[in-house]
This record gives sequence, structure tokens and C-alpha cells, in this order.
Amino acid sequence: MERTTVLITGCSSGIGLGLAARLAADSARRFKVYATMRDLAKGERLLERLGGRCPDTLELLQLDVTDPCSLAAAAQQVQGQQLDVLVCNAGVGLMGPLETCSDQAMKTLFDVNLFGAVRTIQAFLPAMKSRRAGRIIVSSSIGGVQGLPFNAVYCASKFAVEGLCESLAIVLRPFNIHLTLVQCGPVHTSFQANLQRPDPEGSEMRGLDAETQGLYRRYLGHCQSIFRDAAQEVEEVLPVFLDAIGSPCPPLRCASTQLLAPLWRLRLSSPDGSAYVRAMHDFVFGGSEAGGDQP
Ligand code: NAP
Repeated sequence: MERTTVLITGCSSGIGLGLAARLAADSARRFKVYATMRDLAKGERLLERLGGRCPDTLELLQLDVTDPCSLAAAAQQVQGQQLDVLVCNAGVGLMGPLETCSDQAMKTLFDVNLFGAVRTIQAFLPAMKSRRAGRIIVSSSIGGVQGLPFNAVYCASKFAVEGLCESLAIVLRPFNIHLTLVQCGPVHTSFQANLQRPDPEGSEMRGLDAETQGLYRRYLGHCQSIFRDAAQEVEEVLPVFLDAIGSPCPPLRCASTQLLAPLWRLRLSSPDGSAYVRAMHDFVFGGSEAGGDQP
């Protein structure tokens, strides 16, 4: 039986690691997985998950999505194998009042989340086009379709990814290449620990107005309770990726959670956006006390 070849970026932890492990351990051995990560020393975690050895369904490759040479080398290694599925999963976060986001942090975020996805697709798309077959799955976020407070730059990068993929999907239709954006909500991974965010008592907050500082503290409390009460485990979001890999005609967008679905529907049904802004403000900060009933 011919195996489905899958290359995944960002497999050192979280969703990428979970997906690579699940596919490589498939009992029917239907997949050949190229699990890529920017630091191969972190591959141990994936191998541990697979019982401490590397099965012949798995190959670890170095790939830093911000480094064109690393991408070219990975594409070279996969050359000769037909790549059936590309999963652009690598991503980083940035949280905090906009005034505290440094130029460097914003550029790094876009370099990974947006340009990293662009470069990765560019590296593998020509081979898929010439075969007139393939799938591209991209880790988006509910923050890619709705603005989230104190995540403005992260959401901007994921909104950009959504626009990139929606535009590309139109062109890829005649090539029989399906593109799917997976919108996760909060998931228990290293993402929260890795994301850059200012300490509410730290020096970055110096000079910031007291009202924004207060809102930020309240947001951090809200985040904690959302992660405690509603975050998903990686295993819960994997079926969405598996459906996108296995379904004959996967959708452009699919969500792993219904957590913010009512707010998303409000955003669609009220296109001028003000009802969404009001409702999201109330959801996160409470009602009128925090100015939520202002127009
Ligand atoms: P994670 O555990 O932090 O995994 C992120 C992965 O991206 C890590 O393997 C990380 O590698 C990798 N990465 C970062 N920069 C990279 C680069 N320059 N080149 C290659 N890989 C790089 O978080 P996760 O939750 O699994 O995140 C996976 C995706 O899901 C991201 O795109 C994220 O935006 C999205 N998402 C996550 C959540 C959530 O709540 N967890 C919610 C919505 C969307 P290193 O170990 O080398 O840093």
C-alpha cells in the first residue's frame, strides 16, 4: 500500500508533536511523516512519545521556517518522495498592550506566523502543482477570524494567514490542491509558556496609562480562567487535522472548538463590527463597569 506522505512544521511540542506522533503510530501504517523542527535536539520528546525509537514511518528533519536555507535543505531531502500533505503548523504568540510590543517582537512574530507559512508553502507548492495533487493544512486560530483583546499583533498575523490561504485556495482549485485552515481555540501546549508577554508589574508597563494596565490585568485573569475551564487537550484537536488529511473534499476552514462561536456568528451577522466589539468587551471585561455599554 502506498503511504500518504506528510510534512509538518513545528513538531518539537504541542499540536505538531501530537499530530506527528499520531500519524507515525498509525496501526495500519498509512503514513510516512516528516516531522520537522528548528532544533533537532528537541526531537527526543517525539521519539519518547513513540516508545523511545524512531519507526520507519517517521523521519525527523531540521526546519526553521524563518530560514530560507533550512527550508531549501528540507525540500531537497523530501525531493523524490511525493509530498501528499503539508502542515504549516509552526507558530508563536505575542500578548500585551500594543504600546508594549517592540518592533523586534512584532517582526519576529510575522516572520514565523505569516512569512514562515508563505516560505514553507512556496518551497513545496511547485511539486504539488506539477503532480496536480496535494493538501496544505495551516494552523490558524480563532484569533485569525475574530479580534481578541491584547492579542492585536498575533491576531493580525493570523488574519493575514487567513487572507493568504483563502486567496491561494481559489488559484489552487484547478490543480486539485486542497487548502484547509484549522482554527484552534485555547489548547494546552507550550504556546502559553512560550508566548512573549509583559509582566503587568514589569518595566515595560511603565508609562502606560493606568486604565489600560487595569484592563490588561483583568484580561490575564480572564485568560487563566478560560485555559482552566475551556482549553482543549492536543488529542481533542487532532481529529480536525485528521479529517482535513483524510476527507475527499476538506473545507477551507474548520474550527476545533465552539467556544467563541456565538461571538463569531455575531461578527458575521452584524458586518459593521460594533456589536462584536461590544459583546467581546463584555465577555472579557464584564458589562458596563468596564465601559462595555459604550457605543
Ligand atoms: P507550541 O507547543 O508552542 O508549538 C509551536 C511550535 O512552533 C514549536 O514546535 C516551535 O518550536 C515551533 N516554532 C516556533 N518558531 C519556529 C520557527 N522559526 N521554525 C520552525 N518552528 C518554529 O504551541 P502549539 O499550540 O502547538 O502551536 C501550534 C500552532 O497552533 C501555532 O501556529 C499556533 O499559533 C496555533 N494555535 C495554538 C493555540 C493554543 O492555544 N495552543 C490556539 C490557536 C492556535 P520551538 O520548540 O523550537 O520553539
